[in-house]
Amino acid sequence: MATKPSVLVVEDEPSIAELIAVNLRHSGFQVTVVHECVAAQHLIDTALPDLLLLDWMLPGQSGESLTRRLRANERTRDLPIVLLTARGDEADKVAGLNAGADDYVTKPFSTQELIARLRAVLRRRMPAPSSPTLQVGALSIDVGAHQAIHAGIPLKLGPTEFKLLTYFMQHVGRVHSRAHLLDAVWGNQVAIEERTVDVHIKRLREGLGEGSHLLETVRGAGYRLIISD
Ligand code: CA
Repeated sequence: MATKPSVLVVEDEPSIAELIAVNLRHSGFQVTVVHECVAAQHLIDTALPDLLLLDWMLPGQSGESLTRRLRANERTRDLPIVLLTARGDEADKVAGLNAGADDYVTKPFSTQELIARLRAVLRRRMPAPSSPTLQVGALSIDVGAHQAIHAGIPLKLGPTEFKLLTYFMQHVGRVHSRAHLLDAVWGNQVAIEERTVDVHIKRLREGLGEGSHLLETVRGAGYRLIISD
């Protein structure tokens, strides 16, 4: 995350709120503290934080109720929420997760554990790239866009060559036998001969142009993609 992740803390106990705020700021978070749900909702309506750290027992509206409300709203449906619950209150934890919280931390908590959990939730909630991109040395492919690039030059590859290259890039350095490549890239199409693999490897090398040396033949074993600078 390039910028500091913003955390909205809803905690009515001033000493705990302060402890959390100080530690989170120290760990590189941007922190806003409010003491009840109405204020939290107001802030969320204005700007979505990256994460909501929400006490369960609050004056007025409960943490569970706010969680349910946020989950029911399209704008806040995916807002990461971590609940703070009292020790041993199993029913609260279950209710919290059922309400849609991503995780909970039990009071009293170690600040290290709290921060580790917040980071884990933020990592899980990071939006997945719409199309995965693989990068190996000067080679990169955008799987969704079906585009391969070597040293800045777009490559012209057929669909099978593209699939082969994707597979090699997912397993860089490993030697793959022809039979293994047939399984992995072509699937269980029994009618295809191993020689077919050689044909497509040859085409893939041609397609790689300046990068053709990256695809090595390992005598008696198969093929592998190497990293080269
Ligand atoms: Ca409380």
